[in-house]
This record gives sequence, C-alpha cells and structure tokens, in this order.
Amino acid sequence: MQILDGKALSQRIEQKVKDEVIELKTQTGYTPGLAVILVGQDPASQAYVSMKKKACDRVGFYSVSHEMPEDISQEAIENTITMMNKNPNIDGILVQLPLPPQIDTTKILELVNPAKDVDGFHPYNVGRLVTNLDGFVPCTPLGVMELLAEYNIDVKGKNCVVVGASNIVGKPMASLLLNADATVEICHIFTDDLKKHTLNADIILVGVGVINLIKEDMVKDGAIIVDIGINRAESGKLVGDVDFANVSEKCSYITPVPGGVGPMTIAMLLSNTLKAANMNAKERG
Ligand code: NAD
Repeated sequence: MQILDGKALSQRIEQKVKDEVIELKTQTGYTPGLAVILVGQDPASQAYVSMKKKACDRVGFYSVSHEMPEDISQEAIENTITMMNKNPNIDGILVQLPLPPQIDTTKILELVNPAKDVDGFHPYNVGRLVTNLDGFVPCTPLGVMELLAEYNIDVKGKNCVVVGASNIVGKPMASLLLNADATVEICHIFTDDLKKHTLNADIILVGVGVINLIKEDMVKDGAIIVDIGINRAESGKLVGDVDFANVSEKCSYITPVPGGVGPMTIAMLLSNTLKAANMNAKERG
C-alpha cells in the first residue's frame, strides 16, 4: 500500500505558485488578490478561512476577508460581492459555505463574476466543467485529480465509484473523472446497498462526512482509495470517511486524513486564483 501524499504535493504546488507570483510582480507590478466572505461564527468555516488566508500570505497574494454576523441580510452580502466584482485588485472571490438559512445561497453564488469564481461554484463554470471546457473547477475534486496524476494513476477506463453527490464535491468529482474517460458511478444517501457498488470499484472516492463509512469488506483487493471526508472523532482527532487502519491493508493506494485531499484543496485555490490573475493581467494589458 502506498500513501497518496497530498501534503507533500501541495507544498510543491505552493512553491510553484509563489515563484510565478514573483515573476508576475516583477514583469507587471501586479499582485494577485483574493477576497473571502465569511458569515457567522462556525468554527470549521473560521478554521478553513484562516488556513486559506495563511496560504495566500505564504505565496505573496493580497487577501482580504469580509467577516459578517450570522444575522446579516441578503442585500448586505450581495453589496459586498458587487463591490468585489468591480474591484480591479481582486482576482478571486470565495464565499465560504454554508451560509445561514435566511440567505439564498444560489443567488449569492450566481452574483459572483464567473471570471473571479475561483471556487468554480457559479453555474457558468459548472456548465463549462460538465461540457469539458476550460473554466474554474471546484478546488477539492481538482486537487484529487492532481494527486492521482502525480502518482501516474490513469483513470481512463477504470471503474470509479464516487460516494457523495454534493455540488461542491461529488458531482464535480464525477464530471472530472468522466472527462478523463473513467466509467463513473455516483452513490449517495439513497443508494441501495452501497457495498455492492464499492466492491466493483477500481477507485473509490468518498466525500460524505460519515466516520468509517467505507470498511474493508466494501473494498476489493488492490483498489485505490481517495478519502475526501473530514470529520472530528470523539478523541478530537481529524478523520476521514474510510476505516483507514483496516482498508489500508487491502488497497494499493490511499489518501490519509489529514494530509491527503485537504492540503490539495488549498493548493488548488491558490492555483485557481493565480489563473484568474493571469487572465485579468491579459485584460489589463
Ligand atoms: P454534503 O452534506 O453537502 O453532501 C454529502 C453527500 O453525501 C450527499 O450527497 C449525501 O447524499 C451523501 N451521503 C450522506 N450520507 C451518506 C451515506 N450514509 N451513504 C452514502 N452517501 C451518503 O457534504 P459536502 O459538503 O459534500 O462534504 C462531504 C464531506 O467532504 C464532509 O466530510 C466535508 O467535511 C468533506 N469536505 C472535504 C474537503 C476537503 O478539502 N478534503 C472539502 C469539502 C468537503
């Protein structure tokens, strides 16, 4: 069994982004900028935003976070996004999800300028992904594809079972795999007999949020396991959706949690923001 080391790869990607930022600044005097919108006090969201901000600092981006109270109005968030859409120093806009129940999340995501949509959640970019056109791709599944490529794992013709069908993880993961010529099944909470599906998989990619959902008797010998889940165990430790100790005895490759998909997500946010800055640089002339 080999570990798919997302931490090590993310550090190499981060270094590459950092070098390119220096080059962009030297050649054009421009610094890429990311705006993050954080609503409420959810500790997990606060932790993610803080990690993203630190990563921006490490690679030399300009970053700004707009922190808003839980009871904020739809209009106030929309006004902030409109301002960021117009701000020429901002290349990427990220709205940390989930938003509170009084907010219409779809309307918020649709307001982000697709050219600044570094999370790839705008329907314009979703459509481009599904039709295999260049655009912004959600960071977590994009990071998974980079990690598989790093270990020369070609998904073409492989049976890939994606467990979890959210707009930010499972569905874009399935689109990327399909675009890379994999045979893709998507399972979710209403899937009958999950094991029947996963036992057939050459590659299992699970992003659900249930500790130990994938157990060793659900995995065929030599399968590749990508654990996207992030859960807090009773012990306080971060764990994924896979029973790592037992499944790792059976599979050929596996991502650890932490140190697998998580750091790749942040690395992809940096590379998507740099991509946006380079596109904007062309427009700035
Ligand atoms: P979500 O709640 O929006 O979606 C969960 C999906 O899992 C749904 O499609 C649901 O149908 C499915 N599901 C729920 N219970 C199931 C079960 N018992 N069997 C099969 N399918 C089931 O969650 P999300 O935002 O997609 O996040 C999923 C997980 O991925 C969470 O643990 C989250 O923390 C993690 N995540 C990790 C990263 C990362 O960087 N590694 C990024 C985003 C999300």
